[in-house]
Amino acid sequence: MSLSRIAKSIAESATLRLNQTAAGLRRDGEAVIHLGGGEPRSKAPAEAIQSAMDLLQSREVRYAPPDGIPALKEAIASYTEEFYGRLTAPHGVIASGGAKQALIVCLQAILDPGDEVVYPSPYWVSYPEMVRLVGGVGVAVRAADGGFVPTIRDIERGVGPSCKAVILNSPNNPSGAVYPAALISEVVEFCETRGLWLIMDDIYHRLVFDGMSTPSCWTHARDRSESSRLVIINGVSKQYAMTGFRLGWAVANKALIRVMTNIQSHQTSGPSAIVQHAAVGALNGIQSSVESLRQTLENNRNVLVARLKAFTGVRVTVPDGTFYCFADFSAYDKNSTRLAQKLLEQVRVLVMPGVEFGLDGHLRVSFCGSIKEITEGVERMKWALDPDSPSELYMANRKLVRQA
Ligand code: PMP
Repeated sequence: MSLSRIAKSIAESATLRLNQTAAGLRRDGEAVIHLGGGEPRSKAPAEAIQSAMDLLQSREVRYAPPDGIPALKEAIASYTEEFYGRLTAPHGVIASGGAKQALIVCLQAILDPGDEVVYPSPYWVSYPEMVRLVGGVGVAVRAADGGFVPTIRDIERGVGPSCKAVILNSPNNPSGAVYPAALISEVVEFCETRGLWLIMDDIYHRLVFDGMSTPSCWTHARDRSESSRLVIINGVSKQYAMTGFRLGWAVANKALIRVMTNIQSHQTSGPSAIVQHAAVGALNGIQSSVESLRQTLENNRNVLVARLKAFTGVRVTVPDGTFYCFADFSAYDKNSTRLAQKLLEQVRVLVMPGVEFGLDGHLRVSFCGSIKEITEGVERMKWALDPDSPSELYMANRKLVRQA
């Protein structure tokens, strides 16, 4: 079959495959514990639902402008002023089908074939594939100290003559690391000096712990004019638990937003009007659900980290944000795909292999589920991997006994 070379180069997602296996096991009545997920379990804000219902009840659901309805663009502009101190007119905002579409349309707007994009590793699984889809080349840079927070030197090392953009994601999926203000400031300055686009994927920026706050990239920008190449990506998926709505956005200079709008207008004509109304409700409504989700996640994180630390062979870096812990399981198996497969097969626990995020030997364990799922899930993992753990395990109404 004759298919596009680029399309054929897009990797099948091991994550998706594991998810499908887990869903199949669940259908067969198996007690699968899902610690692989990327979405909060809380409910969407009531205002979001009401706002979408109002539009639905009018029975007039029409095409929306490809860059978003004015009320949403205004709400995003206010949000950006509040959280970043960046003043933007609506022409500096585009609403997309999730932060994911905002990111790929942004890459389509700035990359020519062969252009490079630098991002720290471990990275969100979609960056390499998105860059490849657009004909670019992804360059993952690893922190020289082996940790999850790169230095400006690490990033500089990845930037060659073909580099067009840097992507920073903080709080980071999968590591949960929050990059310090000093690093953000250095990267902003470096990109300004080198004329590089800096794409800040801030989708988790309100989900941080221990009284931390995420530094605003914009406060470090020297160029605050229309020639600024600083792009802010954000959305409603994580902070408002609205993953299924598919609404994210980009804030950037108006020339980039215009080109992104042209692209998006031919692709999807923009996000659904219903979803845009829901996002207006969430952004303009009472914000207490964000703080209550944040608190739940912080509590979940504490429980998960305590359990993982009691696990002899596991090395844990405490996540400062998001709902993921990226733990080093290489003492048990350096091949994270094999390890994740084994955990699903033996004890029905779904976790994500680190290799998908650019770092083998690690597993991404999500803590966006319930405390019961977290504690039971880790107990099962311990039984499967740690010979010092009790030899008996009760899994739903099955008793497993580990062979000596
Ligand atoms: N960036 C990162 C780092 C993510 O983890 C995700 C979702 N997993 C996204 C972007 C995409 O978010 P959305 O649901 O808004 O498309």
